[in-house]
Amino acid sequence: MIRPIELTEPLRAALMKPEAAHKYSHGHVLVLAGGAGNGGAARLAARAALRVGAGLVTLAAPQVAFAEHAAQLTAIMLRTLPDAYSLRGMLADRRLSALCLGPGLGLARAQEMVPAALWGRRPTVLDADALSSFAEDPQLLFNALHAETVLTPHLGEFARLFPDLAEGLAEAPLERRIAATEAAAARTGAVVLLKGAQTVIAKPGGETALHDATGPRAAPWLATAGAGDVLAGLIAGLMARGMAPFDAAGAGAWLHVEAARSFGPGLIAEDLPEELPKVFRALK
Ligand code: AMP
Ligand code: MG
Repeated sequence: MIRPIELTEPLRAALMKPEAAHKYSHGHVLVLAGGAGNGGAARLAARAALRVGAGLVTLAAPQVAFAEHAAQLTAIMLRTLPDAYSLRGMLADRRLSALCLGPGLGLARAQEMVPAALWGRRPTVLDADALSSFAEDPQLLFNALHAETVLTPHLGEFARLFPDLAEGLAEAPLERRIAATEAAAARTGAVVLLKGAQTVIAKPGGETALHDATGPRAAPWLATAGAGDVLAGLIAGLMARGMAPFDAAGAGAWLHVEAARSFGPGLIAEDLPEELPKVFRALK
């Protein structure tokens, strides 16, 4: 059964913070960043995770990118993270509740960091470079995945991991995109969110949701550089707050489009997290 994503009462309740909250009760997101010069994508994801209500967000970058990030960040914490060995050390902190890997990570660093991150068995979003870096041997990634992983490919990234399922998919009707996403979820055992104007989310074991940003919920100005990085951060933030991966993917997709619709044309990716407070106010 395909469930359309709407603002249901459980979603509204999950998005509002209880009154007696403190920052540690809302989770801690770790966003992994890569080398100097392409860190904007990781910062967008981190900002989205914080704005969606994660209590704490840490961005972990290699030393070469430290100064760049330090000049840009305030509420988001910054750590240096040289290698996978240090990542395993960080994951010993049980309060780290969700991970986001891919935006601005770099292909080489992704190859090293993704298996170490998945080893920690935390709710994890894999996007962008965290997916593309396994194009040569997708099975290597699939072997490491666990049920609390959400993969958020666009069509190109989807084709790198699932070339057989992606054949002709760009022009195919929605039913085929749904079937391909479901097959990818079954193959990997992870939640798969296939991005586009119509975003399909499939959970291994059968549940599928559709977020249709065409027709009455159209927001074509969301097709802008960095929008996908924001979505990855939203989902990680919602998982850190305790949402199950499939629900967080659905709620993230809904909020993403809602923020875009609230802002309107002229939107750039930076605007999306900043628009969330307005979206939340309207939910009350
Ligand atoms: P990425 O390709 O990683 O930057 O992600 C692009 C984001 O924009 C995804 O969340 C897509 O679902 C969304 N998107 C792309 N095209 C459209 C569109 N025409 N209408 C609404 N959302 C879109
Ligand atoms: Mg992207």
